[in-house]
Amino acid sequence: MRRLADYLQSMQTEDVLAETEKAKTQARTLLEDQGMGGISLSLDLSKLARPEAEKGEEEVIERELIIIGGGPAGMTAGIYAGRAELKPLILVGQAFGGQAATTSEMENYPGFPDGIGGMALAEQMAAQAARFGAETAFEEVTSLDLSVYPFLLKTYEATYRARALIICTGTAPRKLGVPGESKFIGRGVSFCATCDGYFYREKRVVVVGGGDSALDEGLYLTRFANEVLIVHRRDQLRATPILQKRAAANPKMRFVWNTVVDEVSGENVVTGVRVHNIQSEEQSTIPCDGVFVYVGLIPNTQLFKGQLELNPDGYIITDKRQRTNVPGVYAAGDVQDPYFRQVVIAAGAGAAAAIEAVRFLAERAYEEAGKT
Ligand code: NAP
Repeated sequence: MRRLADYLQSMQTEDVLAETEKAKTQARTLLEDQGMGGISLSLDLSKLARPEAEKGEEEVIERELIIIGGGPAGMTAGIYAGRAELKPLILVGQAFGGQAATTSEMENYPGFPDGIGGMALAEQMAAQAARFGAETAFEEVTSLDLSVYPFLLKTYEATYRARALIICTGTAPRKLGVPGESKFIGRGVSFCATCDGYFYREKRVVVVGGGDSALDEGLYLTRFANEVLIVHRRDQLRATPILQKRAAANPKMRFVWNTVVDEVSGENVVTGVRVHNIQSEEQSTIPCDGVFVYVGLIPNTQLFKGQLELNPDGYIITDKRQRTNVPGVYAAGDVQDPYFRQVVIAAGAGAAAAIEAVRFLAERAYEEAGKT
């Protein structure tokens, strides 16, 4: 099993990014050579680093603290728990960095006056957690049982028992749920402008949504595309004023108001979206080469249903100290924050959860020592 600590030790951040860029360039060249330049490619570092699954081998590993999720909340929890000498294990699934890592440029994370790329920030956090002894594994939790103690977790590679858990599984992009959307993922439909924007050089793209993500990533797409059409279901944007101003001032951006997408159309690749105006009911087709969907996020809490208290939208309910309804289980980041959903807040919540987990473990150890 390959751990992130070894991986980071073996490669400097610049090397990793250079490798990623090299691989992306090779893949793009290949696709363009084959006349498939419009086809989307999404590449993440985990694909470079992911270990071969050791099928059939089942380890049972005892840990003091396991953190599920490797976005800003999980990595910050790892930094804090690492400094408390808990040697936390961070299970990151297929990729670390979370949704934040797919953000092209982060301008509001403190300490970076010129902004920082989402993936670059994720790498720095991972390296910092590793420095304090946190171990990161590219393993996906497939089941867990919170009714036993220590808690039981299974991944494809191993079975774990953990005396405390911090859940930082974040969110996933919400889909539109219209015909053609799933069919054309990777062939014109994308949820990540940072990953796929390059393929839309000199092309026309539609971005669906009216929030910060739609505008932020739409602005990023103007680096490549000739025209970026923001298709929004209302006539008012939800995005912050600074992004609205920038979008309005960008000559490559155009807004299509009060309009919803009914279908993504095309043969082999996307050629357009069928839409209708919700006021006039008029139907039309907007020709385009790509569709970027930014219609919000849904919490990754499938695993916890029936075991933890969730709100009606599926977010984990925590108190002000990041405690869930199960003692010893904490949640931090977007998975329990339907309101702010900011990287800096996720990082803060991760720190708080780790501080609480450290206290919980110390108190439990004290109680157990008293019993013997
Ligand atoms: P969001 O704020 O929830 O916005 C989602 C947008 O999609 C809304 O405009 C919504 O329309 C629209 N929408 C939802 N369901 C739809 C559907 N079925 N069909 C068509 N449109 C639909 O999501 P987000 O933009 O991904 O942002 C998520 C969080 O991350 C926010 O808290 C945001 O502030 C944060 N964020 C911050 C930054 C930054 O600070 N630079 C960047 C990215 C994200 P309505 O407006 O009509 O509801």
